[in-house]
Amino acid sequence: MNRTHPSDDDSRAARAADTFRQIYGDSPDGVWAAPGRVNLIGEHTDYNDGFALPIALPQTTLLAARTRTDGRLRLHSAQGDGRITELAVAALAPGAVTSWAAYPAGVVWAFAEAGHAVGGADLHFDSTVPTGAGLSSSAALECAVAVAYDELYGLGLTGAELARTAQRAENGFVGVPCGIMDQMASVCCTAGAALHLDARTPERHLQVPFDLEGQGLRLLVIDTRVTHDLGDGAYAALRTGCERAAALLGLPALRDLPAGKLPEALSALPQELVPLVRHVVTENARVEEAVSRLRKGDAAALGPILTDGHASLRDDYRISCPETDLAVAAALHAGALGARMTGGGFGGSVIALVRAGREGMVGESVTAAFGAAGHRPPRTLTVTPAAGARRVEPAPVR
Ligand code: ADP
Ligand code: MG
Repeated sequence: MNRTHPSDDDSRAARAADTFRQIYGDSPDGVWAAPGRVNLIGEHTDYNDGFALPIALPQTTLLAARTRTDGRLRLHSAQGDGRITELAVAALAPGAVTSWAAYPAGVVWAFAEAGHAVGGADLHFDSTVPTGAGLSSSAALECAVAVAYDELYGLGLTGAELARTAQRAENGFVGVPCGIMDQMASVCCTAGAALHLDARTPERHLQVPFDLEGQGLRLLVIDTRVTHDLGDGAYAALRTGCERAAALLGLPALRDLPAGKLPEALSALPQELVPLVRHVVTENARVEEAVSRLRKGDAAALGPILTDGHASLRDDYRISCPETDLAVAAALHAGALGARMTGGGFGGSVIALVRAGREGMVGESVTAAFGAAGHRPPRTLTVTPAAGARRVEPAPVR
């Protein structure tokens, strides 16, 4: 099991600043950190103007950055191909960058598009967020740039505005039609709390205390280490299906369909849209129920909500896969209070809520089940609700 403490950021920041000096020959103006996230409940609801309840992870993407006055943007990542990508800010346009650098360059583009006076910079990234595991390494990468540019260029934007800019980068520059949950989680989460997000009004997000330690609980993230290729096109198709259903029902978004009206609405829809609508409406209700249980101080009571949410993703939204279903089943069998896949689907990670002391056994049971089924061993992390994107002070180099 790996555990990353937030204070690790300080020593990692010193290393990132050092590497920055080696690459660019000068000290950075600062180092910023933006976390990955797991969503407790509220999956595929954000693009339906609905609710979600993510936490930020202790795993972060660090960005050492220094402004430039010549309009050039240089990007390097410890997880990249070793090369420095160099671009002109004025020439940034969708399609102009096809590598990983599209995510951070897209944020600079999105700021400029929105009329902010932003210029160039030298950027070096170093991340502990696993990539492509459904833990939002892409949002961490984008949001690190958003918070760094906000400070370096004196933009004075709110967290929700920074998250919108990062989402705009992913939608308009990278070309992924994601909702706003990942970026809101990375920017606006706070340590010890889950973020109650209403995707229609992200600026009005609320912090809901989520005291795992105090309640004798642990949250496991089980990275199945599989991604099924159908993910990309399927995500867009699901989103289109939801928008079509809302239009047929005469609603601005599926969020506007109250749970009490669900049976009537389902009977009016073409058969293929029925499970999509049922998932979104019941999932929004699960978020609200989860928030109410957390507010009563009963985090263990989230368990059944997580498991119900997984069934809905598996049977209605149909975005689970054999590996995520197996991880959920094995975790529950080993005594987890609840478990579900998290993130976009077709692989990625599963979360399991367990009583403290049982995390080893649950992790081992999932690994054993994967071995028996012939899957690669999963990677298991124990996580705590961590802080959102922020500036970090590099610890003095010893
Ligand atoms: P997720 O957000 O779930 O991790 P995505 O497919 O949305 O998965 O984003 C993963 C992509 O983001 C990677 O393939 C890579 O292009 C980019 N990426 C994320 N973190 C880094 C990093 N530290 N360095 C370089 N590229 C990164
Ligand atoms: Mg992503």
